[in-house]
Amino acid sequence: MPEILEVETARALLDARALDREITKVHAPDAWFLKRGLTPRAARAALTGQSFTHARRRGKLILVDLSSAGSVPERPGSVLGLHLGMSGRVLVDDEAAGDPLLDASNQADPAWHRFGVTFADGGTMFLRDPRRLGAVELDPDEDRLGPDAFDLTLAQLRAICAKSRAPIKAVIMDQSRIAGLGNLLCDEALWRAGIDPARPAHELADDAVKRLHRAIRDTLRILGKRGGSHTGDLTSARGPGLHCPKDGAPLQRRTVGGRTTYSCPVHQR
Ligand SMILES: [Zn+2]
Repeated sequence: MPEILEVETARALLDARALDREITKVHAPDAWFLKRGLTPRAARAALTGQSFTHARRRGKLILVDLSSAGSVPERPGSVLGLHLGMSGRVLVDDEAAGDPLLDASNQADPAWHRFGVTFADGGTMFLRDPRRLGAVELDPDEDRLGPDAFDLTLAQLRAICAKSRAPIKAVIMDQSRIAGLGNLLCDEALWRAGIDPARPAHELADDAVKRLHRAIRDTLRILGKRGGSHTGDLTSARGPGLHCPKDGAPLQRRTVGGRTTYSCPVHQR
C-alpha cells in the first residue's frame, strides 16, 4: 500500500514529466472513482484546455495545480486532488510511480486506468488502481489534513500528543493530526523511538516525544533512501515467530488503533 514515501515518488514524477502540457482529453470511465460531487462532465470542463503547473503533496494527497488557478477567482477546479488508495500508481507516458507491489498495479491492464488525461503532444497521464480504492477530486479541502509528516515540528508533535488519551500509534496515524504516516511507518518510528504503540499519547514524557520526533524524521529519511515504506528494519521482521532486530526479543503482535501492530515488549515502553 502506498504510504507517504511512495506518494512522494508519484508526485515527483508528475512534477518532472506532466507539467506545462496542454490537456486535450479527459478520461473518466469510472464515475465512482470521482469523489466529492465531481462528475466526468465537470472534470472535462475543468481540465480540457488547461495544463498542470505544479504537483504538490500533503500527506498522502497529491495536489496538482491547474493553469486556470487564479484566472477567474470564483471558477471551480483550480486544483486536482489525486488519492492513490491501497494500490494506486501514477503513469506519465510510459513511466510509473506509486504502489511498489509487483503483482498488483505494475501490470499494464488498461481496465485499471480509473482516470487520466491525454496531452496535446500525444502523451498521457493515468491513475492506475487495481483495487479501486483511490480517488480523484477537484479543489480538495487541504485543511482537513494535519501538517505533512516531512514538515512536522517538535512543537506540533508535543501539542498533538498532549491533547489525546488515545494510543500514541492511533494518534500519529490519524491523518487529521499528522498527514502521511501509515501502518508500517508508524510501527517503524515507534520501534526506533522505543515507545510502546499502545501508550496513551498524553502520558508520554517530553524526552519520549523528542525521541519520537527524531524517529519519524529518521524513518522517512532512511526508508526514503532505501526505496520505500516496506524497507524498515522492523518491517522486515514482521510476521509470526520473529524477533526484535535490536535486542532479539520475540516481537509482540496486537491490534492497536484498529491496525495490526508489531512491537518489541522489551525495549518499547
Ligand atoms: Zn527490542
